[in-house]
Amino acid sequence: MIIEPKVRGFICTTAHPTGAAAEVDRQIEWVRSREPIVDGPKIALVIGSSMGYGLSTRIAVAFGCSAATLGVQLERPASDPRTATAGWYNTAAFQKRAREAGLWAETINGDAFSAGVKAEAIDRLRELGPVDLVVYSLAAPRRTMPDGTVAKSVLKPLGSVYRNKTIEVATGEVSEVAIEPSTSEQEISDTVKVMGGEDWALWIDALEEAGMLAEGCRTVAYSYIGPELTFPVYRMGTIGRAKDHLEATAKELDQRLAAIGGRAFVSVNKAVVTQSSSAVPVVPLYMSLLFGVMKRKGLQEGCIEQAVRLLEQRLYQGGEIPVDAEGRIRLDDWEMRDDVQAEVRDLWERVDSDNVQELADLTEYQKEFLLLFGFGAPGVDYSISVDPDVEL
Ligand code: NAD
Repeated sequence: MIIEPKVRGFICTTAHPTGAAAEVDRQIEWVRSREPIVDGPKIALVIGSSMGYGLSTRIAVAFGCSAATLGVQLERPASDPRTATAGWYNTAAFQKRAREAGLWAETINGDAFSAGVKAEAIDRLRELGPVDLVVYSLAAPRRTMPDGTVAKSVLKPLGSVYRNKTIEVATGEVSEVAIEPSTSEQEISDTVKVMGGEDWALWIDALEEAGMLAEGCRTVAYSYIGPELTFPVYRMGTIGRAKDHLEATAKELDQRLAAIGGRAFVSVNKAVVTQSSSAVPVVPLYMSLLFGVMKRKGLQEGCIEQAVRLLEQRLYQGGEIPVDAEGRIRLDDWEMRDDVQAEVRDLWERVDSDNVQELADLTEYQKEFLLLFGFGAPGVDYSISVDPDVEL
């Protein structure tokens, strides 16, 4: 079939296998064009491996460190007339390239929160040996708890209504959004259950009990802080509570892993276009202003550049791992630079529907959004009919 993008708000309901593979190839080639990362991990488990930060970290670890990788994802295969999800195609493309390069690469498609998927991961790892890197990169809207109840993650401010500018990405219309605060303790604690550190710690428990954590093992989970303008809805809102929990979990895990010479970190990454970040109001407008500023200053990075910087210049740079006063790795250092933020703040004050094309890099944002689903990849002929049914 000929597959075209079908965008509904902040989601695209179709995905293109050839385009997704081209984007995976682009990331692989970028990693391969660099010097290999010495002393990197040899066996890595990546939880949330099919999209965004998890996918790029898997690519960087496999092709930069020649590591065997076990991925965990929740994606949907094609079922007539629907295409598979983009993450499904990404993983199929990644596995093909990894195996061609002689690298062990397997993926479990299932619910990472479940005990069953954890047990299955441990079984698969027995073929390989204990892991020396565990990457926790889940972005999930809900979590089924062991008793069958479902906790949902919400993105709301706390205390008062949050009002700010937002953009309709498809049309470029800038308007004001008002987000009602969460008034329910249940909603806050459910968000923490989904996006906090509890499940990360359960993964580490399960691996430890099974003897599947290598001596000196490292684990990292991803977080975000962002600019003051999104504080009320992000870092000081419901999701911020979950990120606080994630960061507290990193400290606990770091102490525990010391017994085997291991380390646990949260890495605060920069804002990038992913399925999750494009769903947050206000953030797409912030990102399209930010990207323009960062590009002009030669500082712009995507997931793959961040993943390589994490491995090369933080986790495996050889000496003491650089962290901030709270013990966090900071890969948002360039995004948060004073000069960058000052320019973004100035643009934010002025931006409206009439000048958005001139002030923001909306074209880049739209391009990156479509690329998440495999559309607009350079060199791909989208008029050619493709088989949407791709095996993992
Ligand atoms: P994403 O939406 O691109 O990818 C999410 C991944 O989680 C996918 O591989 C998906 O299959 C997997 N997943 C979701 N639910 C699952 C489940 N129940 N079981 C198994 N797999 C499941 O997400 P992302 O934006 O790359 O975010 C990953 C992490 O990075 C999050 O913690 C996020 O807060 C953090 N982060 C994101 C940004 C950003 O701008 N996107 C910035 C800094 C930090």
